[in-house]
Amino acid sequence: MLLPITKYGNPILRKKGARIERITPEIKQLVEDMFETMHAAAGIGRAAQQVGQALQLTVLDVRAVKDRPSTLELDGKPADVKAFMPLVLINTEIKPFGNPVSGPEGCLSFPEIYSDITRPELVDVTATNLKGERFSFRAGGLLGRAVQHEVDHLNGILFIDRMTTNAKADLKPELEALQAATRAALKKS
Ligand code: ZN
Repeated sequence: MLLPITKYGNPILRKKGARIERITPEIKQLVEDMFETMHAAAGIGRAAQQVGQALQLTVLDVRAVKDRPSTLELDGKPADVKAFMPLVLINTEIKPFGNPVSGPEGCLSFPEIYSDITRPELVDVTATNLKGERFSFRAGGLLGRAVQHEVDHLNGILFIDRMTTNAKADLKPELEALQAATRAALKKS
């Protein structure tokens, strides 16, 4: 089922996600719907907050992007990114590290808005999968950036919070218009 994407201005995007204690059939259905919604929008990541649920749950799939490489290490060895996709991350803990690198980012909750964002180039990730097992990996490149972007969502942090002051000032009219439109739509529903 396609789920509506929550847009900037919806207060749920600022909510920290609750921990998921049990992988219920409802959680499995939500994951399926999140993938369907993400693929329909040609996105590479989606946090539960973006479909209206404040939970520690995110899904990722970087396979559709050909021009921005990702790196993956499992148990200290390089691993195949494609074979590792799609990814479901529950109750995720991350440790970003390495040199700060700048790269373009967008967000399905901010249609048509893009900016360069600086983040550490690598991230160590530990999360629970849909079977309820904890697993760990190290990601870099596009995947490393996407994981950090999505985990920010789980904590109520948005990519506009990480833009430079100048970039955010340049986008102010678009951001205010989006926020106003979202709030107006919420009032109506
Ligand atoms: Zn986003």
